[in-house]
Amino acid sequence: MMNTFNIFTLFPDMFKALDYGILAIATTKGIININTVNIREYSTDKHKKVDDYPYGGGFGMLMMCQPVFDAIQSYPKSHTIYMSPKGNVLTQTRAMELSKIKDINILCGHYEGIDQRIIDSLVDEEISCGDYILSGGEIPAMVLIDCVSRLIDGVLPQPQSYLDESHTDNLLECHQYTRPEIYNQINVPSILLSGHHKNIEEFRLAQSIYLTFIKRPDMLMKRKISKKELKIFAIYYPELKDDIIKFVE
Ligand code: SAH
Repeated sequence: MMNTFNIFTLFPDMFKALDYGILAIATTKGIININTVNIREYSTDKHKKVDDYPYGGGFGMLMMCQPVFDAIQSYPKSHTIYMSPKGNVLTQTRAMELSKIKDINILCGHYEGIDQRIIDSLVDEEISCGDYILSGGEIPAMVLIDCVSRLIDGVLPQPQSYLDESHTDNLLECHQYTRPEIYNQINVPSILLSGHHKNIEEFRLAQSIYLTFIKRPDMLMKRKISKKELKIFAIYYPELKDDIIKFVE
């Protein structure tokens, strides 16, 4: 069964940006279907108008009800997301949950936003891509689709390869290296070349904890580390053992 994203937008061509790499392959394989719907085509106005002035005054224009209602309601009812700076900020956890939903509608706003009655009547969830304002919901929608799609079974070439990625377990990923072994006189850490899988795994875990501690202690606070992980960490970063103890569950 295919996962379908119906995107309601004034700028369908922007979504050509998703036609690359892993998402393009997943589309060709029929695992995902990224379908754009041009809201303007649903406008009953003779000039195909889609926006109007806000009641009560204020800056800018708002997307009006009629074209958006008619566009969304001409598709089967499914979980409908409005990309909005007022929504919950997208997380890896929410993306994982959304990857289990077969059909998702995504509404992209423009101008100063959309008439509230659209949100009240048709939207199940508002999602933000961060605490800043963009000029339209298209780029946030692409962020959402990219992030959710790679969690859908069959999309990533190596299933489960997202499991040790940054944010999957509130732990940042360890440093990664590829060939050659020495570049500009800089060596790859020798342990990665040792072939000793258990040591490599422990080294990577210790480094992940270290990086999360330095860059995102807030994540480590949520995750906590076990006594066993503390022991492993202390082998590689003995000088930081005392600093990390407060994260032990
Ligand atoms: N006046 C609105 C912002 C409108 S920005 C407000 O202050 O809340 C125009 C459109 O861009 C929005 O309708 C929304 O769809 C999209 N957008 C802007 N920033 C966004 C963000 N951080 N996350 C998701 N969508 C965003």
